[in-house]
Amino acid sequence: MILQSEREQVVAHCRHMGALRLTPGTSGNISLINAERGFMAISPSSMSYEAMTAADVVVMNLDAELVDGARRPSTEYAMHLACYRARPDIGAVVHTHSPAATTLATLGWELPAIHYMIAYSGVSLVRCAPYHLFGTVGLADAATECLGRGYACLLESHGVLATGPDIGRAFALAEQLEFCADLYLRAQSVGTPKILSDDQIQQVIARFSSYSVQ
Ligand SMILES: [Zn+2]
Repeated sequence: MILQSEREQVVAHCRHMGALRLTPGTSGNISLINAERGFMAISPSSMSYEAMTAADVVVMNLDAELVDGARRPSTEYAMHLACYRARPDIGAVVHTHSPAATTLATLGWELPAIHYMIAYSGVSLVRCAPYHLFGTVGLADAATECLGRGYACLLESHGVLATGPDIGRAFALAEQLEFCADLYLRAQSVGTPKILSDDQIQQVIARFSSYSVQ
């Protein structure tokens, strides 16, 4: 099977995403790139995570051509491909509709550095990309532009885009964004949270880089 290891990792992390209730139903999607071969393994469209097997995971090339798999790829394949085309340092993409982070996205808000764990994103401010219809190149372009040099952005009135050098870090970032967004909503509801400076977040990033934070 082409990209068997990557396909198995997609399945494992989709199931984990479902178990953690990071996204409702089958709304999330996950991919990994095999840069050497130029192929992406991406979760199939509209399939329960419990039923998914490695054979259901779709393999595409960077020109969005189907390489292997009988199913349709996730409707957001263009956004995943755009991340890999724009950023060779990105090895995996996790897209969720996690509740707290998506609440911020419905408000069109950014997620500031209210907690040091936002440093997983590689930046001190997670921005929000303007709304575009799901599954479109317009959304893919807006999202990758919004990433900047970071690994994450919110998608207005839609959800969350989390990426990373590997699937472990991309998935952990999706979890930490939800944690930070939930804190932000709680803090905002009773007061004004303190915001860490860019320098303080850079110190955390430097500390993270000196050991594994997974
Ligand atoms: Zn979505």
